[in-house]
Amino acid sequence: MYIDLRSDTVTPPTDAMRRVMADAVVGDDVYGEDPTIRELEEYCADLLGKEAALFTTSGTQGNLLGIMVHCQRGDEYIVGQQAHAYRYEAGGAAILASVQPQPLNFESDGTLDLKKVTAAIKPDDVHFARTRLLCLENTHNGMALPLGYVQEAAKVAAMNQLKLHLDGARLFNAAVFLDVPVKQLVQGVDTVSVCLSKGLGAPVGSLLCGSYQAIHEARKWRKMLGGGLRQAGILAAAGLYALQQHVSRLQEDHTHAALLAQGLTGIPGIEVQFGKLQTNMVFIKTSEQHARGLSQYLKEHNILIGTGNPIRLVTHLGISGKDIEQVIACCRAFFKN
Ligand SMILES: *Cc1c(COP(=O)(O)O)cnc(C)c1O
Repeated sequence: MYIDLRSDTVTPPTDAMRRVMADAVVGDDVYGEDPTIRELEEYCADLLGKEAALFTTSGTQGNLLGIMVHCQRGDEYIVGQQAHAYRYEAGGAAILASVQPQPLNFESDGTLDLKKVTAAIKPDDVHFARTRLLCLENTHNGMALPLGYVQEAAKVAAMNQLKLHLDGARLFNAAVFLDVPVKQLVQGVDTVSVCLSKGLGAPVGSLLCGSYQAIHEARKWRKMLGGGLRQAGILAAAGLYALQQHVSRLQEDHTHAALLAQGLTGIPGIEVQFGKLQTNMVFIKTSEQHARGLSQYLKEHNILIGTGNPIRLVTHLGISGKDIEQVIACCRAFFKN
């Protein structure tokens, strides 16, 4: 068994989660007849303070649906240059929705400068695409958006007739870090997508939440994208279990990340980026030559880490305090040689 720090997506369902999956009551969800999916959707909508929710195959699908709900063909959305909903979703908004991105650089705290957002909104002119949507991300690189920022962004969006979509793949990590109810983080947001398959530990699935109208619209686009699932209540059961049992334990992952960062910072050759350390991600910088060597050395010792430099290390429910100690010891041994 590897100690796998590449991502929080690597967790297999726990035994308890597998049991609720096996026992789930199911039906044909395209007919709206899967009671477990309906329960999950209602539970999540309620948790986020939105009218309705839609179970989606992935966060990528949830974000694309958010964009499709708010934008028509030929419209555009403003989004972070390094945002998942722009950079890491294979250009789906452009290809499948005919919506063009207007990327802007993130500030160092994961926000988009709202003055720059306003300046990027294109005037009503025959030359331009219509700017229709602002898309934010929480957490971004493990950083929670500052409290109150999203509400500010919502005001700016409303003043300019834009809708606001939040990619909340790891929104629950932000809520746990800030110690506020998760619905407080999405006030004023028109749609929000959250992932069940990251730190929450479900094997599959995300949810898009918003108004009845938005979710009604999204349901149709989801069908078109091939996301109309049948007896997927077995997956929804895992998601419901994750939302009910695995949110508060995210604190453990954050504590493990902090321990890891502290342990690594004493090692000559490693620079820990403490500025980004809030939730379950640790970023470390090392020389280019060491970056490759370290990842190879750790793999030989049954530890997997991300590639690149800075290197990303992600904690999750498959990582114990003992694992963290082992990783620190192994990194120390590598840099001794
Ligand atoms: C993982 C992730 C998503 C969704 O990814 P899927 O693999 O499609 O579920 C969206 N946004 C962010 C920031 C993510 O990390």
